[in-house]
Amino acid sequence: MGKVIVIGLDGATFELIKPWVKEGKLPNLAKLMQEGSYGELKSTPEKISPAAWTSFSTGKNPGKHGIYHFTAMDTSALKLRVINATCRDGNPIWSYLSNAEKSVCVINVPFTFPADKVNGLMISGWDSPSIDSAGFTYPANLLDELLEKFKEFPITPTIKKYTTDSHPDLAIGDIHHLLDFRTMLSRYLQKKNKWDFFITVYTATDEVQHHFWHHMDKRHMLYNPDKARLYGSAIFDVYQKCDQAVGELLTDADEDTTIVIMSDHGATINSLGVIYLPLWLHQLGLAKRMNILKDFIRSPSIKNGKNIFRRIKGMLYFQISSLLSDKSKQFLKRLLGGKRSGFEAVSEFELSKYDWLQTRAYEAGPNIRINLKGREIHGIVSPGEEYEKLRDYIIAKLHESRDMVTGKKIVTNVYKREDVYHGKHVEDAPDLIVDWAADFVIRGISCLNGNGEHVKIKSLGLYRGLWSGEHSNYGIFIAKGPHIKKGNELKDAEIIDITPSLLYLMGLPIPEDMDGKVLTHIFEENFVQKKPVGYTQADDSGADIPGDSYTDEEARKVEERLKNLGYL
Ligand SMILES: [Zn+2]
Repeated sequence: MGKVIVIGLDGATFELIKPWVKEGKLPNLAKLMQEGSYGELKSTPEKISPAAWTSFSTGKNPGKHGIYHFTAMDTSALKLRVINATCRDGNPIWSYLSNAEKSVCVINVPFTFPADKVNGLMISGWDSPSIDSAGFTYPANLLDELLEKFKEFPITPTIKKYTTDSHPDLAIGDIHHLLDFRTMLSRYLQKKNKWDFFITVYTATDEVQHHFWHHMDKRHMLYNPDKARLYGSAIFDVYQKCDQAVGELLTDADEDTTIVIMSDHGATINSLGVIYLPLWLHQLGLAKRMNILKDFIRSPSIKNGKNIFRRIKGMLYFQISSLLSDKSKQFLKRLLGGKRSGFEAVSEFELSKYDWLQTRAYEAGPNIRINLKGREIHGIVSPGEEYEKLRDYIIAKLHESRDMVTGKKIVTNVYKREDVYHGKHVEDAPDLIVDWAADFVIRGISCLNGNGEHVKIKSLGLYRGLWSGEHSNYGIFIAKGPHIKKGNELKDAEIIDITPSLLYLMGLPIPEDMDGKVLTHIFEENFVQKKPVGYTQADDSGADIPGDSYTDEEARKVEERLKNLGYL
């Protein structure tokens, strides 16, 4: 049986790849598409790395593996805690392969800390608090060898908020440095070790898309032809380097090796729906923010005495920003301090800021939770009829809401959690999952409230400093190998299908509790005829993970990193 190489390009999308392939600019990806099967890869409903990469590795929907986001909500305390692979319910592909005595080499798959004990080696992803954390590599002494060889071991780019606006060249340098390091590291481990299954993941594609999208997309308010000349190719440059990395990592791949290129989700312009959601809930009377003085006194940074003035400014900005015209906002911004855009004020829209006795629904990232009696500590919505009516009402109102400038719908879909998830962890999912518009930036919202009165949320104007690129529903899938059909475009591949398809290719039975299907139509017909898909009983024993989850110190480190990257 031949070897398998999987190369992950986090957030890569065919919307960008296909035109560049046509222009002959990504020769390695083009060749793989020509000589193999490819198609859009449907992500998990939350289309975010922790959920999607875990669904890739386990072949299960998040309702079964239990990971939805970077954080998990503790509804009894209304607190968010950062999560890692110890929260994963289900075995990843490298554990199935290890148990079948295949050797594996697993590098930097997001949300795999602490590393699993595998037959081979494993370096966990960017949920690792630091390289010194127990469980960063398996075996543990692999790290010493790598540090001796490379002298450094960056985990994520050191991008800080605003970095791309104030120091774009530094940010680009940082992203490329990490990309180059990943290629060196992957190539070194690939050459030095014996393996049947090799996987490495690049995150540069996702990072550059979040921070540089507005430089190549004229639909964005911050698009500026002068800046576009300088930074308009930042995203392409990263794709081009990834294409070269693919070429390099396939240098020794023989005719017997199967190659998979994939992403966990796609990318598009950031509509900023997630930023409008708290205000939308507030203005519709679904959530009640506590008054500004209480906010101020209770805020953790005031208690710690940190950033008091920045915080007052941020809070004032947020409180009045919805009432102001764009012009007055510009004036206010100048008054409050140069380039500040109110970003921190919005990102610090903490859960402690609600008056829970008057809040029926609250935001969970881009999604919505109901303040449910018996689940949330201060729950006021009764389970059953009241809960269902409220969810239906919110869905209807989101569909009715329009962008104030263009009149376009601000959402494309809103799902009840049981419609998109199944399994014993559905209870942990947000109550409503929202697909925000993905082809424009929201510039204010208008809709009718429950009393039929017009509600208007003026443009927040918070374009600068926020991500200009956001995740989209479809990532990429390309497979090429001795048994894979050539030049074959797929329509129905999902991220949960990859693991069962690879287990099948490598001669293993599919555990019957996997949600993904074997993509039999990517394989040559005589291969499928000779090899019917085999199944085995469910294996939900959980991965064999050494060590504990985060210490308090580690949790703080990861939280800070997520904030710097803009995920929290
Ligand atoms: Zn991302």
